[in-house]
Amino acid sequence: MRRAKIVSTIGPVTQDYEQIRKLIIAGMDVARLNRSHGDPDTHLKVYNNIRQAAAKLGRNTAVLVDLQGPKIRLGTFINGQKPVLAAGDIFTITIDNIQGNKDKVSTTFKKLPLDCKTGDLLLVDDGKVRLEVIEVTTTDVKTKVLVGGSVSDHKGLNLPGVAVSIPALTSKDESDLRWAIQTGADLIAMSFVRSPKDIDKAKQIMSEEGREIPIIAKIEKPQAIDCLEEIVKTFDGIMVARGDLAVECPLEQVPIIQRKCINLARQYAKPVIVATQMLESMTDNPIPTRAEINDCAVAVIEGTDATMTSGETSVGKYPIETIEVMSKISEYQTENGLDLIPKIRDFDWSGGGPIAYSAVRIAETIDAKCIAVFTTSGNTVNRISRMRTRIPIYALTSGEHAHRALSLTWGSWSYLSGEPDSMKDALHRADTTLKAANRVKDGDKIVIVFGSIFGKVGSTNSITVHEVGDSL
Ligand code: PEP
Repeated sequence: MRRAKIVSTIGPVTQDYEQIRKLIIAGMDVARLNRSHGDPDTHLKVYNNIRQAAAKLGRNTAVLVDLQGPKIRLGTFINGQKPVLAAGDIFTITIDNIQGNKDKVSTTFKKLPLDCKTGDLLLVDDGKVRLEVIEVTTTDVKTKVLVGGSVSDHKGLNLPGVAVSIPALTSKDESDLRWAIQTGADLIAMSFVRSPKDIDKAKQIMSEEGREIPIIAKIEKPQAIDCLEEIVKTFDGIMVARGDLAVECPLEQVPIIQRKCINLARQYAKPVIVATQMLESMTDNPIPTRAEINDCAVAVIEGTDATMTSGETSVGKYPIETIEVMSKISEYQTENGLDLIPKIRDFDWSGGGPIAYSAVRIAETIDAKCIAVFTTSGNTVNRISRMRTRIPIYALTSGEHAHRALSLTWGSWSYLSGEPDSMKDALHRADTTLKAANRVKDGDKIVIVFGSIFGKVGSTNSITVHEVGDSL
C-alpha cells in the first residue's frame, strides 16, 4: 500500500486526455497546473481532461493550481540573442524598456534599483550566472559578473537575502486565483511566501468569490524560513520548493530546511509536499540515478505527505515511467520503513488533536482494519494522518472539494458518504460506503471518529469501535 502521495506537474507532454489517464493509473494523486507557464484556455482543457479521466477511472484526483508569485525576470534580448557573459564583465539591468544585448537588459521588476544596494548578489537562471551589484542609479543596477554563462529572454532573477518590495500576490496571481476558484480547483499553491500575512489577500479574494480552498505556502525564501512555524500555523499546508530554495539560501542548508518543514507540518497537522528535481534525470532517461532514488525515499522516510514531479512530467520524455518509478519507491518505503518515520512528540493539540491521537492508539491496540473519519473540512483526517500509522485512514466526506483535497494527505483515502444525522446513520453510512469501496467486509473491527453533534463543523468529539455489519 502506498501511503505517501504523488503530485505531478502537467505540461505540454502530459496535457491530453490519454496521457492524464495514464498518469492517474500510474499513481498521480494530485495534478499540478503551474500558472507560471501556459494560458488559461489550455489550463481549462487540461482541467477538464483531469476531471473526465478521474471520473472514468473512479479515482479521486485533486487539482492544485500553483500561482506564479512575484517572480522577477529579465526582459528580452535583440532578436532572441543569448549572450554569453564571462567572469569580470560588466552587465547592467535596467528598468528602461530596452531590447537587451551583452551589456544591458531590462527587467520585469521596476523597483529593482530601489531594493538593491552595492554588494548585493543577483542570480540569473536558478543561480547559473552570478552577478555582484557595483553601482545603483535611479534606473539602472550595474553589476560585475562573478560566474559567467549564457543569459536569454525571460530568465528568472533571484535576489537572495534582499527583502524585495513586491506584493505576495501580483495582479496576475489575483486573476489566476479567481480563475482557479471559478474553474473548481481543489488546492492553491502560493509562490515566494515571505510571511504569514501573505495569506490575507488570497483569503479576501476567496471570500469575494464565495469559496475557500486550502492554500499551500511554497517555502523558497530565506524570509519564510525565519518565520516558518507561523507560516505553517497560518497556511493550510506547505511545499518545500527546493528549486528556488536552493538558489535563495545556501544550498547546503536545504536538507535541514526540508526536515524542519516536514516536522513542523506534522506538528500542526498540515500536509507537506517535497518538490523539485526528485527524479530529474528521468526528464531524459528511462531510469533515475541512485541518488534520486535515495532522495525520493528519504523524503518519504522523513515523513512527507507527498513527493512532487516537475519537468519530469511536464516536458520530459518519460512522464508515465517517472510516476511509476516514484510510486514504487514511495510504496516500498512505507511498506518496509514505517518505523523509521520520526515520532513527533510536540503535537499541536488544538481542535480534534486529542481525539485523533486517541483514535490511532485504539486502532493500533485492537489492530483495527481501518479508521473511518466523518469529516467536513478534512482537518481531523490530517490530525490522524500526522501520526503516520500503519492503519489505513478512510475519510467519509460530503463536500466534493474537501473530498478531493484529501488526496494530498498521507495514508488516507476519501469517499463521498453524505452527512449522517444520527449515530445509527453514521454506522450505516460507514459500513455501506466502505463495503462498496471494497475496503472492509462484515465482521471487520473498525474505529469510527465523528462529531456527536451531527452536521456541526468542528465538533469532532467521539470515537467508537464498531463491527462492520452490526449497524442495523
Ligand atoms: C520550486 O522552486 O521548487 C518550485 C516548485 O516552484 P516553481 O516550479 O514554480 O519554480
